[in-house]
Amino acid sequence: MRKLQKYLDDFIGIFFPDLCLACMDEHPMQDDILCVECYYGLPETGFHLIDKNQMFNKLAGKVWFEKATALFYFQKDGPTQKLIHNLKYDDQINVGIYLGKYYGVILKRSNWCHDIDLIIPVPLHKRKLQKRGYNQSQLLAEGLSESLGIPYSKKALLRVTNSKSQTKKNLLERLYNVESVFQANPRFSLKGMHVLIVDDVMTTGATMVACADAIYEVTKDVKISFVSMLYVE
Ligand SMILES: [Zn+2]
Repeated sequence: MRKLQKYLDDFIGIFFPDLCLACMDEHPMQDDILCVECYYGLPETGFHLIDKNQMFNKLAGKVWFEKATALFYFQKDGPTQKLIHNLKYDDQINVGIYLGKYYGVILKRSNWCHDIDLIIPVPLHKRKLQKRGYNQSQLLAEGLSESLGIPYSKKALLRVTNSKSQTKKNLLERLYNVESVFQANPRFSLKGMHVLIVDDVMTTGATMVACADAIYEVTKDVKISFVSMLYVE
């Protein structure tokens, strides 16, 4: 992974923190966000090298899709949990772009994204966006887009308020207490494309499935793949 450094060094405007963003304990390596221990200790999934990986199998049967991959396994109290905590809750906007860019380099090398036309981040509800100031999935998408040279769109998929009353919601919506639903932007044609949906954490896969369903509602002539930064087993 060290070989990526040269590439990442070219990233203009990256900030480098005083403390490693995974352990918040050690100093990070030069021009990096992680200390040497966390850098080599992060549990990569290697899913991009396996067609029918764990994540693929979890989503299989729930929705029609091409492929699925995630960068790291989520480990409770481990460095990935702290890293995603920093990505989500602190004002570390660059971490999202950094990780997206980082994974983009890995995916580019393995040619995993060779037929992807457009990268689409999972949208955040407006209220949350206002509160947080940014959408971490969008930052990841930005980073991926930059290293893969594939465009991304934050307008292709929208999140709209779910006006249905609790009793009218379907089982899934009630189970997950979905306040908002996804909707493909009708003014944005995805016809004939292979799109890559990006999320920060994949647990049940319900969000990924809901995003894909929203896109299929507008067009069936589309291929969909999924990428997540963290995968929860
Ligand atoms: Zn560390």
